[in-house]
Amino acid sequence: MLIRKGYKFRLKLKADDARKLRQFAGCCRFVWNRALAVQDELFRDEKAKLLTRTELINRLPEWKREHPFLADAQSQILQQTLKDLDLAYRAFFRRLRKIRAGDYSEGDDPGYPRFKKKYLHDSFRFPQGFRIEYRHIFLPKLGWFRFYKSREIQGTPKNVTVTRDGPHWYVSVQVEQEIPDPVPAREPSAGMDLGVSRFLTLSDGSCAEPLNALLGLEDKLAREQRKLSRKVRFSANWRKQKARVNRVHRKIRDSRRDFLHKTSMALARSYAVLYAEDLNIRGMSASARGTTDNPGQNVRAKAGLNKAVLDQGWSEFLRQLDYKLSRRGGELVRVSPRDTSQSCSRCGHVSKSNRRSQSRFKCTACGLEMHADHNAALNIATLGQRGRNACGDEPGTHGTVSAGSSMKQEPPGNGDKVPAPA
Ligand SMILES: [Zn+2]
Repeated sequence: MLIRKGYKFRLKLKADDARKLRQFAGCCRFVWNRALAVQDELFRDEKAKLLTRTELINRLPEWKREHPFLADAQSQILQQTLKDLDLAYRAFFRRLRKIRAGDYSEGDDPGYPRFKKKYLHDSFRFPQGFRIEYRHIFLPKLGWFRFYKSREIQGTPKNVTVTRDGPHWYVSVQVEQEIPDPVPAREPSAGMDLGVSRFLTLSDGSCAEPLNALLGLEDKLAREQRKLSRKVRFSANWRKQKARVNRVHRKIRDSRRDFLHKTSMALARSYAVLYAEDLNIRGMSASARGTTDNPGQNVRAKAGLNKAVLDQGWSEFLRQLDYKLSRRGGELVRVSPRDTSQSCSRCGHVSKSNRRSQSRFKCTACGLEMHADHNAALNIATLGQRGRNACGDEPGTHGTVSAGSSMKQEPPGNGDKVPAPA
């Protein structure tokens, strides 16, 4: 089994290095924006067709003649930039087709390629010509750089992306690695409920708390942003404060990333198969706004919930869990989340009044009492196992499992699936 992995290391820069890197990034940004302007104009013209990847690359010599500074950058990374733009357009058209066909579950934004801004998108990629030796990396036309080698690189490096993040520059090395085919595994398995007060709850009763450190950081962010708003824009003090705000932003992002990776890894080590709700996460955050025909109800409460949802990065979490489980021969099975929070995991009775509060579940029929998230996780496990049995029990042969014939079928729509926060 061939897998792809990425390693990211911070570069240790010498005096003039950052200037050279900025220059390279500037050339790539220029080429990206130039090419995007060309494509965008063609895109807006209904009769025209976009340039192909080769046609774009054939424009490069002309652009280099018009703008001699482009000669400072290596041609390959400029070509790579055009290939990346081509990929961005392909991805856009693919999502657009899916949305038009009505089977796109991750929201309705097809993600049109965007112009790159200075400072925000400083990056470039080497498809080849680089070399990595011990703690040093050679980048064509730039030379050797030392990097902070936080871990060993396993596999064959395929490409290297250089990015700036705040004051630092990083290299991301993408590798391909042949690993032994995992032995398909089915046990242990568990259902999983993703929530706001508890990040996740498993059907065996164990749970993970959300990363509360983020709450503290968010307060800090608000404070620093308030201070920023009182400074004169683009003054020296404003710049200093802006750097502080960005530092908190990075800290929030890094903590979240770390939390998601650690949590998904711990689960992938302990379980072979996990059943999770197939949440339309981006759809959930869109639904609170409502439409003109159907203004969002309870907008504030939902917006609060959605913020927590996005903060916790559920879709990213499920993505990580998916590949981490499958590399070990297991599987993440998504089940349709119909009624999982309102039906009783013991007797199957479905009622809104079963759910007493955000955290308490008490069945009005059989009297079962437990944490609401635990009850939901048990329902998800049952739905998942039922779906597996119906699918002939072959691991890896099915994606989403629907609720099945014994569950009530309802028209799609997810506005009402969201429990109101207590
Ligand atoms: Zn019951």
